[in-house]
Amino acid sequence: MELRFETRAIHTGCEPDASTGSIMPPIFQTSTYVQESPGEHKGYDYSRTNNPTRAALEKNIASLEGGNYGLAFSSGMSAISAVTQLLQAGDHILCCDDVYGGTYRLFDTILKKFQLEFDFVDLTVPQSLERHRKVNTKIVWLESLSNPRLKLADIEAIAAIAKKNKILVVVDNTFASPFFQKPLNLGADIVMHSTTKYLNGHSDVIGGALVMNDQGLYDKLRFIQNAIGAVPGPFDCFLILRGIKTLAVRMERHAENATRIAQFLEKHPNVQRVIYPGLRSHPQHELARKQMSGFGGMITFFIKGGLEAARRFLERLEIFSLAVSLGGVESLIEHPALMTHASMPKEMREKGGISDDLIRVSVGIEHIDDLINDLKNAL
Ligand code: PLP
Repeated sequence: MELRFETRAIHTGCEPDASTGSIMPPIFQTSTYVQESPGEHKGYDYSRTNNPTRAALEKNIASLEGGNYGLAFSSGMSAISAVTQLLQAGDHILCCDDVYGGTYRLFDTILKKFQLEFDFVDLTVPQSLERHRKVNTKIVWLESLSNPRLKLADIEAIAAIAKKNKILVVVDNTFASPFFQKPLNLGADIVMHSTTKYLNGHSDVIGGALVMNDQGLYDKLRFIQNAIGAVPGPFDCFLILRGIKTLAVRMERHAENATRIAQFLEKHPNVQRVIYPGLRSHPQHELARKQMSGFGGMITFFIKGGLEAARRFLERLEIFSLAVSLGGVESLIEHPALMTHASMPKEMREKGGISDDLIRVSVGIEHIDDLINDLKNAL
């Protein structure tokens, strides 16, 4: 039977435990497994290599993304890092210019030391892949929606160009979540998640994941996962699996609340401009409608009055918590230039439009009237 997203989110990988009937997957808090004879075991020999609670999570996330294989990591950054270990010195990654500050930092400071090359370019127009690719380009790295400017990449069009040139397409799908966007169906080779965000959804775990269809790619990444060892603990896997069970209902409410808030902010006299893919004013609204089944819970806006106004506004809020991260049930708000993207050089931030009046909102699932009243008071 072909099961729908909501049903798979709850059941895939979480079949009742064979030995006890436990409806929740047990937390296999073990480092090693007893073998009957040297090399003869039940499929598990050491928990860095494999763990049943992690295997349940990997199966579940793969199914949500419509992929054949999933791999879980100890953070979004370690999942990103694992993908880059596919490369050799001298290879080139073409990355979208609006990217999470930590991704930029990993590429620009650490991986450059290992002779990997990077270019950060605007990939909202697919032809810019054609323009900026080099003979040694091996990966095109997309964040769609991007952090924090909520730009989109036309994944299908980019994948078509990439395929012709044997370039892997990797999509960081953290902001959209698999509920609203499935990059593998659009031709991407690897989907990456910071499971810290919407997948877990409760701001109590750091985690990452990769999903892919190709078995050769999976074998290589699984080897890297084990060889490098940045794996999540079983309890974290259990928590993310539990969070995912409510992903569909949470995402619906995140998007519903975000739409109402984006409309409210767009009309407010102290707001310069609002970026939300669900608004007609978003330059890629039509692409968002085509490629996504909903517009997510993230909003970016520019407040009038610059840094001082931004600071006063952020300090006055009572329900929105001033904190980095996103995708939890509670509403968070932050100042990218001073917080999430402070690790990016100032020139790079300015080039990408991450100005001092820009504010990023992760809209939670509290009552919409309370959220709007809080924003109204602080503005
Ligand atoms: N990708 C995006 C879009 C993010 O926003 C983040 C973190 O904020 C990451 C990757 C990194 O994930 P983690 O913090 O789980 O390592």
